[in-house]
Amino acid sequence: MKRSSRGKVYLVGAGPGDPDLVTLRAKRLIEEAEVLLFDRLLSSEILGWAPGDAETIDVGKLPGRHKLSQEEINALLVEKGREGRRVVRLKGGDPFVFGRGGEEGLALAAAGIPFEVVPGITSAISVPAGAGIPVTHRGVTTAFTVVTGHEEPGKDDNLDWEALAKVGGTLVILMGVARLEENTSALLRGGRSPETPAALIERGWSPEERLVGGTLGDIVERAKEANVQSPAILVVGDVVALSEKLRPPTIAILRPDNRGEESERIARMLGFRPILAPSIAFSELPLPEDLPERIERSDCVVFTSATGAEIALRDGGVAELLKSSVLATIGPRTQEALEERGLFVSVVPESYSSRGLAHSLAPKFKRVLLLRSAQGSPDLVRILEEAGVEVDEVYLYDIAPSADPRLDWLILRGRPDIFAFTSGSTAKNLMKRAKDLGAQDDLRERLARAKVAAIGPPTEAELARLGVRVDYVPEKYTFESMLEEIRRKG
Ligand code: SAH
Repeated sequence: MKRSSRGKVYLVGAGPGDPDLVTLRAKRLIEEAEVLLFDRLLSSEILGWAPGDAETIDVGKLPGRHKLSQEEINALLVEKGREGRRVVRLKGGDPFVFGRGGEEGLALAAAGIPFEVVPGITSAISVPAGAGIPVTHRGVTTAFTVVTGHEEPGKDDNLDWEALAKVGGTLVILMGVARLEENTSALLRGGRSPETPAALIERGWSPEERLVGGTLGDIVERAKEANVQSPAILVVGDVVALSEKLRPPTIAILRPDNRGEESERIARMLGFRPILAPSIAFSELPLPEDLPERIERSDCVVFTSATGAEIALRDGGVAELLKSSVLATIGPRTQEALEERGLFVSVVPESYSSRGLAHSLAPKFKRVLLLRSAQGSPDLVRILEEAGVEVDEVYLYDIAPSADPRLDWLILRGRPDIFAFTSGSTAKNLMKRAKDLGAQDDLRERLARAKVAAIGPPTEAELARLGVRVDYVPEKYTFESMLEEIRRKG
C-alpha cells in the first residue's frame, strides 16, 4: 500500500447502515485507511473494507473504558493526524448532521492538520424514505425541518418547540426517543393537531427496521406499547400517511436458513420486504454407504420434500440409480425438484399428505424406501406396514428448533405485516420458542393483528391447532405461490 508522505484526516459519512448506501468515495477511503476511528459498530461489512493492517479504534468502547469524550476524540484525531497517517473518521449518516463532525474539523484546523469532509446519506431523509415516507410531497408539503429531540432544557441554542409547531410541514426529529413525551406535548401546545400523522422508524435500513405509526396525539402510547428504542427517527406530518402505499409490506419468513437466500430473492421480487427469522434449523446428514443397494432392493423410492431430493441428487451415483427407479413424492413441489433434474415421478397422491401417499403406495408396492427427514411423520411408516408393505427408511437431514437470534428478535420485537409459514414445524417451533421466552401472549396478539400465510393444508392445520388464524393458503403449495396469493388478495 502506498503510504502518504503527509497525514490527512477524512471525516467520512457512512450512511444510514446499509453498506450499499455508502458513497464510492467513502468506500475507497475506508479501503485505503491506515487508521480507522468509528463510534459504534456501524456494520461489520463496512468496517471489513478496511485493510487488515489498519489500526481500528472503536471510540465508543475502548478496552477497559466506557466511552471517549468528544474532547478526547478530537485529541486522538489530532494525534493520529500528526503521525502522518491516512486517518478515516467514520460516522453514521452525514458527519455534519448532528454528527459533531464540525467540532472535529475545527480541532484539526486549529492543530494545522489537513482534513476533508466526505458527506454521507443522512438518516434524517433516508430513514423516512426507506419506510415509504417522502419528506416533501407535491400537494402535501413543501418544507421539512430536521431537529434533534435531545436538546436539554437550558442548553445553549434552546429549541422553541411551540414555535416549531407553527412552522408546519414535515418535522423530522432525530434522537427523539428519550424525550418523546416532552417534545410531542410541546408540539401539541404549540397548536399542531393531535390528528397529525406521526411515525417512529427504528433501525432504518436494517433487517430489524420497525415502523410504529400513529398520530401526534397517540404516538407516545404506541411507542411505549412497541417498546421503541434508539436509534429511531420521529416523523410528524401528513406525508407520514403515504407510507401506507409507499412502504413495501414486511413479511417474516420462518423457513430454515438453507432456504433463506432464495426466499429473500423471491420476496423482494414480488415487492415484499423480507425479515428472515428461521424457526427451524436444518442440518444435512451423510448418505449411508449402502444407499445404492437399498435403492436397488426397493420397488419404489419415496421423497417427501424438495430438500430431500436436492440432497440425494447431489450424489452422482445415487442420481443415476434413481433414473431407473420408480419414484413417488408427497406433493408437486418435490415432484418438480426431481423432474427439474431429469427424473420421472410416477406416483403423486391426490391428497398431499402422509395418509394420501400411503394409500396410493400400499396396493402397488412391496418394498418401499423412504428418503426423508429424521423428523418425518411416523404415520406414513405405520400405515404402510399395516398394509403389509416392507418399509426401509433413510434420514437425509435433521430439523431441530432453531436458536437463531433473528427468531428471538422477531418474537420479542418484530411487527411484520405478514407471517409466512412453510411447514407445521416452523409454526410449532415459533410458538414453543415464544413460550420459552415468556412472550407467547404478546406474540399471539401480533399474529392476530398481522396477516398469516400457510404454504399448504398441513401447515394450516398445525396453525389452527395452535390457535392461529390463517388468511392465505395458495392453491399450489410452493413458497412463490404463497407470496403471489398474498399479493393477489392484498
Ligand atoms: N449523523 C447522523 C445522525 C447522528 S445522530 C446522520 O446524518 O444520520 C443519531 C440519531 O440519528 C439517532 O438517535 C437516530 O435518531 C438517527 N439515526 C441514525 N441512523 C438511524 C437508523 N438507521 N434508523 C433510525 N434512526 C437513525
